[in-house]
This record gives sequence, C-alpha cells and structure tokens, in this order.
Amino acid sequence: MGGASSILLKTVLTTLQKGFELGKFPDSFYKILSKPERVVAVSLPVRLSDGRIEVFEGFRVQHSSVLGPYKGGIRFHPEVTLEDDIALAMLMTLKNSLAGLPYGGGKGAVRVNPKALSKRELEELSRVYVRALYPVLGEQVDIPGPDVGTDPQVMAWMVDEYSRLRGFFCPAAFTAKPVELGGNPVREYATGFGCAVVTKVVAEELFGSSKGLTLSIQGFGNVGLWHAYWAWKMGFKVVALSDSKGTVYDPEGINVEKAIEVKKETGTVVEYPGKGQSRDVKETLYVEADIVAPDALENQLTAENAHLVKARIVVEGANGPTTPEAEQILAEKGVVVVPDMLANAGGVAASYFEWVQNIQRLSWSEEDTRAKLAELMETNFKRVLSQWRKLQPEHKRVTLRDAAVVTSLQRIYNAMISRGWL
Ligand code: NAD
Repeated sequence: MGGASSILLKTVLTTLQKGFELGKFPDSFYKILSKPERVVAVSLPVRLSDGRIEVFEGFRVQHSSVLGPYKGGIRFHPEVTLEDDIALAMLMTLKNSLAGLPYGGGKGAVRVNPKALSKRELEELSRVYVRALYPVLGEQVDIPGPDVGTDPQVMAWMVDEYSRLRGFFCPAAFTAKPVELGGNPVREYATGFGCAVVTKVVAEELFGSSKGLTLSIQGFGNVGLWHAYWAWKMGFKVVALSDSKGTVYDPEGINVEKAIEVKKETGTVVEYPGKGQSRDVKETLYVEADIVAPDALENQLTAENAHLVKARIVVEGANGPTTPEAEQILAEKGVVVVPDMLANAGGVAASYFEWVQNIQRLSWSEEDTRAKLAELMETNFKRVLSQWRKLQPEHKRVTLRDAAVVTSLQRIYNAMISRGWL
C-alpha cells in the first residue's frame, strides 16, 4: 500500500502510522494492519431498461476480522476506487474497535451513479452484487450496511437476495433495513444523533457548557441532516447548512425542522429563507461558529483552506474530511478536531444493536435503543478524552485523533496477542 494514489488511503495510513508510533506497537502489528485480509473485485452485469447490458465494477474489502465478523457499509458512487474502499475498510476496523463492538472492519463499493439508474435497475444491481459476493457474506462473516448512495431499500433487496440463496430469512446478514424486516427506527438518524451527542459532550468538556453555542454543518444528507436536527433539539444554534447546491446562513439560528421541510419540497436546503446564501458548498466550514461539522464527503479541509476555519471545534461527521496537513494547521490554531471514527460511530453502533436483536429475534423500543446509543457515544468520547490527557504530558502536539487511534489499536493488539496472531 506504500505507493497509494488515493488521498483518503494516504490519510488513513498516516493516521495509522502515527498511532503505532505513539502506542509504541511492534512493526509486525503494523505489517498486518496496513493491508486488508481479503479484497474481492467483481463484475456486475445489469440489463438496463433499454435492453443494453452494462457491467459495473464492484468491490468488497475485508480488512480485519480479529475482533469479529467484518462490518461496514456499501457505497454506490461513480468515483469510488478500490484504494478508497481499502481506506474506508481500515477506518471501519478502527471505528468498530474504538466503539467496543465485536466486529472487524469491511467496506463495499460499486462504481455507479445510482441516481442515473431506474428503480428496477438499482434493484437488479443490488441483487447482482449480493449474488457475486455471496460466498464471503453472512451474519457471522461479513455484515454490510448502507453508505453513500445506498439506503434501507437497497438493504432490503440485498437481504432478500441473500435469504433466497440461503433458503431462509436471514435478517442479521445486513443492517439498517426497513423496520418491517427487523430494522430499528433509530438507525435512520443514528449517525447524526451520535454526532450530536458527541458535539454536546465535547462542548461541555472543553467549554464547560453547550448552551447557546453555534454550529455550522456541511452536508444535509443522512448524517448532516440528523446531526443538525438533534443538535438543534439539544439547544445548539445552527447558523449555517449546506448541500451540493450551496450554503444557507442565518446568524439568528436556522429552524432545522423547517429546513428539513424545505429540503423535502425543493430538493435543496439552500432554498431555506435564511439571512444569506452562497453557491460555495464549503462556505459552511468557514463561517463564524463555535463548532463546524464537515458531514458530506472526504478531503474537504485541506492545506489550502484549513486556515479559513474560524471555529474552535471541528466534529467530523463524514469519513476522512480533514487531511493530515489540514489537521496540523488546525492544531496549530488551537482547533480541536473530533475524529470521524469517534464522531460518526453512531450508525455502526445502532447497526450492532439491530444485529443483536435480529440474532435473538428480539425488538427493543426506539427510546431504549436511543438511550443505549447516547450512552455508548458518551462513554467512548470520554475514554478517548482521558487517553488524550494521558498522552499530552509526553507528546505536546498529540491530537484527539491520535488518542482515538491508540485506544482503538490497543484493543485490536490485545485481541491479536490473545488469539496468537502476533
Ligand atoms: P448522503 O449522500 O446522504 O449525503 C451527503 C450530503 O453531502 C448531501 O447533502 C449532498 O448534497 C452533500 N454533498 C455532496 N457533494 C458535496 C460537495 N461537493 N460539497 C458539499 N456537500 C456535498 O451521505 P451520508 O450518508 O450523509 O454520508 C456523508 C458522509 O458520512 C460520508 O463520508 C459517509 O461515508 C459518512 N458516514 C455515513 C454514515 C451513515 O450512516 N450514513 C455513517 C458513518 C459515516
């Protein structure tokens, strides 16, 4: 992986390396963890509505299984590469370990623009993907969930296809399913809710209180929308929101419920009647706010624009939105970055709750699940914070991300030692 051309893979490997140095782990451990255990590349022929056959490129990366079955989403995106997929699978290993879940890391991808497909074509693609990867999937092997470009409907088609091949209904083989197939209502908003819990706890820990603090969010999709909604419910003033069409601001505070309605009606949050608008989708990252959250895509804060950030805290709702160069610039400015693997673990934690209930054929209430989720997010954040404070006397420049990686690696390392892998 040394000559990685993907920025995201370079970012994740740099993060990993730094964690290894700080935790003083042996080289043999890095050698194992810097490569995925298994990579499966598949060709996915789909008959389009006009009768033509299109063959899509798909992957499933299974990075580490030392803590349990592989777990991670499936992304449908036209620009996704195998290297990006490897990086995302590595991040899942770190995230699952950090959250204390009994899972290793995996990630799947198909190079496709799902918006360009009809519903029938999308269903066919989802089913073909499962047929191609059937031998390496399953509730005790590899449990996918959704990611960018996929949703509960895609999971429903996938679990149906998998169940047909097995010969019986296997709800625990995929997570974030519709409720009637064993999904939990919490899953839809779990990642954003988890981000909001972390936003509140970090504000309380670093500023003493979260009351009246201002928040700006880039991205108004699954993560950004629910992050905004729950943080607003918790008392934050949301001053800017953006999606791929642009940014809307209101220093007096945006009514997030209304913004959701506007997004539903017009397809974009920019139409919200705020105090100002911009076509620049990154503007949310630079506005006057106590906290900014890049919740859209990777590589949004880079060496070119990190100096423009005015906030004191960055909460990474998206995966890999800050490059290592940007993080250094932010650290020098005294900005605290809550890393993706800590901030956006709410989705996979809720998926874990769903998987447990599916295996046991149990159903917890939405309130119970949400309370468990909040507790898990808060506990994880505080564990990392205490690791950060422990590392600080020896390493002045240590970041929360470094502390999270060390905490996560320690658990993986202990498991490898116990299992005799090292
Ligand atoms: P999504 O597709 O639902 O939403 C993405 C949002 O980003 C949309 O509002 C879109 O308009 C906006 N966007 C697209 N291109 C943009 C650009 N160039 N600039 C600014 N905004 C842009 O995706 P999502 O599920 O919300 O995922 C967002 C990020 O969070 C990804 O990095 C994903 O890997 C990560 N993530 C998602 C989950 C989850 O449960 N959905 C869990 C963990 C991490």
